[in-house]
Amino acid sequence: MSDDLRNLSLSGHVGFDSLPDQLVNKSTSQGFCFNILCVGETGIGKSTLMDTLFNTKFESEPATHNEPGVRLKARSYELQESNVRLKLTIVDTVGFGDQINKDDSYKPIVEYIDAQFEAYLQEELKIKRSLFNYHDTRIHACLYFIAPTGHSLKSLDLVTMKKLDSKVNIIPIIAKADTIAKNELHKFKSKIMSELVSNGVQIYQFPTDEETVAEINATMSVHLPFAVVGSTEEVKIGNKMAKARQYPWGVVQVENENHCDFVKLREMLIRVNMEDLREQTHTRHYELYRRCKLEEMGFKDTDPDSKPFSLQETYEAKRNEFLGELQKKEDEMRQMFVMRVKEKEAELKEAEKDLHEKFDHLKRTHQEEKKKVEDKKKELEEELNNFQKKKAAAQLLQSQAQQAGSQQTKKDKDKKNASFT
Ligand code: GDP
Repeated sequence: MSDDLRNLSLSGHVGFDSLPDQLVNKSTSQGFCFNILCVGETGIGKSTLMDTLFNTKFESEPATHNEPGVRLKARSYELQESNVRLKLTIVDTVGFGDQINKDDSYKPIVEYIDAQFEAYLQEELKIKRSLFNYHDTRIHACLYFIAPTGHSLKSLDLVTMKKLDSKVNIIPIIAKADTIAKNELHKFKSKIMSELVSNGVQIYQFPTDEETVAEINATMSVHLPFAVVGSTEEVKIGNKMAKARQYPWGVVQVENENHCDFVKLREMLIRVNMEDLREQTHTRHYELYRRCKLEEMGFKDTDPDSKPFSLQETYEAKRNEFLGELQKKEDEMRQMFVMRVKEKEAELKEAEKDLHEKFDHLKRTHQEEKKKVEDKKKELEEELNNFQKKKAAAQLLQSQAQQAGSQQTKKDKDKKNASFT
């Protein structure tokens, strides 16, 4: 493609050399957004360091050591320096390292980071997106606070960093570095770095591909992990006031590079690499999340033959697959329905047959009973007839006897009367 491009020289001023200025103006008026996640045990100096880094007092109340689990607390602030506005979100890991069983301590952190990616992805997938004024809450930098033990990393540190390294730019720092001796600090730093390497933990690499920052970033990388001291207290040093921590034996100056790496951290995090951290978050970590999520949802860039596969085609393929499955389910349900109906029909037929049999049986017994009753009736009628006949004969006999009796009496009377006369 680039072979088709021809270089032409301009014979006069056109004006597109103002494009970078236009970009700067647009970004300045829009404002910037930066989100920091502080991971570290309660009391390790997270809040103090944030206050020291941004030269202000953020609202924070000290957490207790008896939280039942790890929870993330995010607070957003609007800061302004010259004419640049920065929307800063600081996320604290409340209760980190305070539980006896720390196996799941990393989970809420991973979930929080993923939730911010998910929110951005959902906005991106909307038909009506408003990414221009979207409040981006994705974590741009994770400051991992290592306790100044002088020994080595704790397993909680290694496990947590390993779980986070593909999701966020990790910058490891040794907290409260004023509590560790200079010669021990050097050994501690190299021990930490070798442990990170041997455990395959990927920390944020300061970019060295851009000329303007390559040198400073290369020299600063050597000092990782930065050993920092935080304090918002101003102490008079010579004739100047400076942020420091005062001890009976002396003063630790926060911004003195001989005392600690606070300035290095501020340079790297804010002054030199803030934009790269934002960019890496979008192009590396978010991109990875987005890819995995879309693949999980069945989207692909290529078909099984490695040919390009557009979103439209993926959608169509998914739709057809879905419709096919739906059809299959429907067929299965229909078959099941037909089978059930047949089963029910057979059951009903069986019941009908039983009923018929019962009915026939009843009919038969009814007829038998009826016949018996009729026979009985006939018998009774016959008996009745006989009885009637007998009765009639008896009555006849009785009347004949009566007749004979009355004739006798008449004869006897006549006889009596004849004897009187
Ligand atoms: P968080 O719970 O991690 O936010 O810790 P805080 O910032 O509230 O600090 C807890 C305590 O540690 C406070 O008393 C701070 O003054 C102290 N502290 C903070 N930073 C440092 C430091 O760099 N060195 C020392 N020695 N103490 C510090």
